[in-house]
Amino acid sequence: MKAIIISIGDELLLGRTVDTNSAWLSQQLAGLGATILAHVTVGDDQAETRDAIDQAARRADWVLVSGGLGPTPDDLTREALAEALGAPLELREEFVEQIAGFFRRFGKEMPERNKVQAMFPIGSTAIENTCGTAPGVQARLHDAEVFVMPGVPREMKIMFERDAVPQLSARSGGKVILTETLWTFGQGESTVAARIADLMERGRNPAVGTTAYDAKIGVRIFSGGNTRAEAERLLEATADEIRARLGALVYGRGEETLADAVGVLLRERGQTVATAESCTGGLIAKTLTDVSGSSAYFLSGVVTYSNAAKTALLGVPADLIAEHGAVSSEVAEAMVIGCRGRAGADWALATTGIAGPTGGTAEKPVGLVYVGLDGPDGCQVREYRLGEHLGRDDVRSRSRWAALSLLRLCLLGEKIDSTWSRVPRPCGGTG
Ligand code: AMP
Ligand code: MG
Repeated sequence: MKAIIISIGDELLLGRTVDTNSAWLSQQLAGLGATILAHVTVGDDQAETRDAIDQAARRADWVLVSGGLGPTPDDLTREALAEALGAPLELREEFVEQIAGFFRRFGKEMPERNKVQAMFPIGSTAIENTCGTAPGVQARLHDAEVFVMPGVPREMKIMFERDAVPQLSARSGGKVILTETLWTFGQGESTVAARIADLMERGRNPAVGTTAYDAKIGVRIFSGGNTRAEAERLLEATADEIRARLGALVYGRGEETLADAVGVLLRERGQTVATAESCTGGLIAKTLTDVSGSSAYFLSGVVTYSNAAKTALLGVPADLIAEHGAVSSEVAEAMVIGCRGRAGADWALATTGIAGPTGGTAEKPVGLVYVGLDGPDGCQVREYRLGEHLGRDDVRSRSRWAALSLLRLCLLGEKIDSTWSRVPRPCGGTG
């Protein structure tokens, strides 16, 4: 089963709105065993839309269209579909009533122009929209099913799941493809790939591939089966094998983040954490508190950006900063010890670094970051040289993941082994 996805809207072509519909539809279609031939994006233009639908219907078995079903003059998908089908539009009164009913639910009267949304090409099937005004349309063209949905992502998803999925699964012969990602942190993509090279061989089912994303390496599994149960069983067996090979490098799967993983471990141990951040500007605290229920273990976070704040809020001696500079392992250590003590937490994390793009020197380049961790077993500082080529956002984001990963591995009692961190000097030394 071959599919083409068409997204319609000037805002998409101009890059003002990111086309999330195509990405979502692709994932759903892949899960149903379809092969996606292409994503096509056109503006609010009737002839372009007509041609896109016509050409897609010649190549694919399913054409999934979203956008341009609104009531305004720039919404031309209905007209374009009618042209492609060579069938004029007709008004269907029952849909006028349905759209009017949608407005009544909000105590409003239907504006006259919304009536156009009850127009459908003769011979096509209208699809009810339960959460918006724009009904969808389904029609057959050149032996393809053309399925037209509203552009609003929520409305599109509900319509696709309710009306398209049953038809698509019936036609796919029941073949199911499931995908899942295992997330790792701390080693580069090639190191991760080398440990699972045989699982990544072409033609294997489940297929396995790696992708780097924001310093995390995802190991993606695509599992095909004649039934959902079979695809699931194969997927889980491969996931178990990958976990066995990669050990503590794997911190989660699917939507799980390092903050989720840290949260689970802190809860299990009944322990708490606090943060003191300089270069990450609160990002670690933000990420920890992205997790619902994090108040069970996250006590407090301070952003001590200036030297004076490091002294006033964390008790970092001013002469220590003067001697070593704010970006130093000595200051990271003093920050994290001050933070843990003042917050009364079991664990504390601190960051100080050069986020760039300005402020780097030969000795302390952009991307130099110190992460301090203080906990029940003592204090440690790690030095990261993330790379001068990185932008500010990347330096800050990676520092955050490095800090959370450090905490996670210490909670697990794992020996820390990372390609891009080193211990600058023992903590509690003369510094
Ligand atoms: P439309 O159905 O064309 O009136 O689209 C309504 C709204 O849905 C647009 O203003 C966009 O904000 C959003 N939208 C439309 N198409 C997409 C898409 N492919 N991806 C994400 N959002 C979209
Ligand atoms: Mg539009």
